[in-house]
Amino acid sequence: MCNLEELKQVVLSCSKCPLHPTRNNAVFGNGNSNAEIMLIAEAPGFYEDKSGIVFQGKSGELLDKILAACGFNRNDHVYISNIVKCRPPNNREPNDAEKKACLPYLYEQIEIIDPKIIILLGATALKGLINPNAKITKVRGQWIDWKDRLVMPTYHPSALLRNQNLKRPVWEDFKKVVAKYREMIDPDHYSAHC
Ligand code: SF4
Repeated sequence: MCNLEELKQVVLSCSKCPLHPTRNNAVFGNGNSNAEIMLIAEAPGFYEDKSGIVFQGKSGELLDKILAACGFNRNDHVYISNIVKCRPPNNREPNDAEKKACLPYLYEQIEIIDPKIIILLGATALKGLINPNAKITKVRGQWIDWKDRLVMPTYHPSALLRNQNLKRPVWEDFKKVVAKYREMIDPDHYSAHC
């Protein structure tokens, strides 16, 4: 197993799948490489592809607000990455071949970062990591045991931007994460909201 920086360099120059010719930047992931919480979403979008940084734009702002409400921030408490590291054209969903080509990088990231808790943001992350037949509407909010880690599936922030009704269930899911974080990692973890 290489270290995170070595893996990042491999990803930044990767040409294993057809997403590489159209990308501006492969987006490896950002955050605390020793974090106990890892968030995984679908793929880079327009702003992420331009900047090389995960979760930019309105979805990124919303995610930062949710994390802040939990008493978490990107630099200290979490590491964030995606199922595929390069932007699919027009933000389409990555196809099976692209996911298959890219997933080994995510598996290795998870092994290196070694988080106790993984939060899956959206259906593609759930299907990509856990089960291609799983439905986010059915399993969100329920802990899944996966390779000695606890996984919490919830909706992607972009879904909340489209549908305000999803705010409440997502907040309930993140409250469970905070409770588990206090139970497993830091009993004194402070959040003003939960
Ligand atoms: S999406 Fe993944 S497998 Fe495809 S080119 Fe980018 S880094 Fe390589």
